[in-house]
Amino acid sequence: MDLTLLLDKIILDVEDKGARGTVADYIPALARVDPSHFGMAIAELDGTVHGVGDWQHPFSIQSMSKVFTLALVLAQADGADVWRRVGREPSGDPFNSLVQLEHEDGIPRNPFINAGALVVTDELARYGDAADELLTFLRTESGDPGLTVDAEVAASEAEHADRNRALAYFMAAYGNIRHPVPEVLDQYVRQCSIAMSCGDLARSALFLARHGIRNDGSRFIGQSEAKRINAVMLTCGTYDAAGQFAYRVGLPAKSGVGGGILAIVPGRCAVCVWSPGLDKRGNSVAGATALARFTTMTGWSIF
Ligand code: GLN
Repeated sequence: MDLTLLLDKIILDVEDKGARGTVADYIPALARVDPSHFGMAIAELDGTVHGVGDWQHPFSIQSMSKVFTLALVLAQADGADVWRRVGREPSGDPFNSLVQLEHEDGIPRNPFINAGALVVTDELARYGDAADELLTFLRTESGDPGLTVDAEVAASEAEHADRNRALAYFMAAYGNIRHPVPEVLDQYVRQCSIAMSCGDLARSALFLARHGIRNDGSRFIGQSEAKRINAVMLTCGTYDAAGQFAYRVGLPAKSGVGGGILAIVPGRCAVCVWSPGLDKRGNSVAGATALARFTTMTGWSIF
C-alpha cells in the first residue's frame, strides 16, 4: 500500500467535509491555536514515517501523555500494582468529571480520564518527576532530543487547574493520591503540556504496535501489558465517545484536547492525527474523520 498516496487522499477528504469543531478554551493558551491546522503521520514498524499537512508542526499532547505515563508505570517491576488504585472500565462521563469518584471510594474508573491519570502520575512520581521521566522516554523514542514542555501552555493550564486540583484533593482524602497534591498537579500539568508533532508521536507510540518493543529493539513492556494498554485505549481512550469511536474507527486510540489523536494498528503501524477543533466530548472532529477514512480505505481496523 502506498501510504503517502493514502495520506494525500485523506487530507482531501477531510478538507471536503469542512466541519472542524471548536478549539478547547478552558485552557486559554490552547484557545489561541489556529483551528485550520491539519496533520497526519503514519509510523511503520521499521520506524519509517509518512506524513501529510502539518505533520511536523508541534502541538500540545495533553491527554495523549496518559498512554505513555501508564506504560512507564507498567514497565516497573511492581507496575501492575497501579491497578489496585485505578480501574479499567469506561466512565461514560466527561474526562474531567468528579461524579463517580465519591460513589467509588476515590478509585477512578480508568487511567485515561483525568482522575485516573492523576493517580498514574502519582504512581510514576515514586520513581522520579513524572514529566521528566516522560520527556526522557519521548526524546529517545521520537529521536528528537529537543522535545520540551511548552512553558506557556503549562502556566496557562496550571492557572486554570481547579477541577484537576479538586479531583486530586478528593482522591487524597481516600488515600489514593500519596504525594503532596501540588507536586502531583505540577507534574501532571507539565506532562500534558509537552509539545510534539504527529510524526514524533507516531514514532514514540510504535512500542504499542510492536507488542511492547521499543525503537532500539529492546523490550519496554511485556506483550500482555501492550495488549492491555491497547484494550483500555479502545474502551476508554476517547472518553464518553469511546463506543462511537470504536464503531467509526475500530482501533485503540487516545485523544487529547490539543486536538491530537493517537491510534494503534497492532502488528502494523502507529498513526497520529492533529486538528485542533474538538467536538463536545473533547475529541478532534477532523482527526476522527481522518482515522475513519484511514481504516475504511486500508481495511486496517482490529475488527
Ligand atoms: N490537561 C488536560 C486536563 O487536565 C487534559 C485533558 C484532555 O486532553 N482531555 O484537563
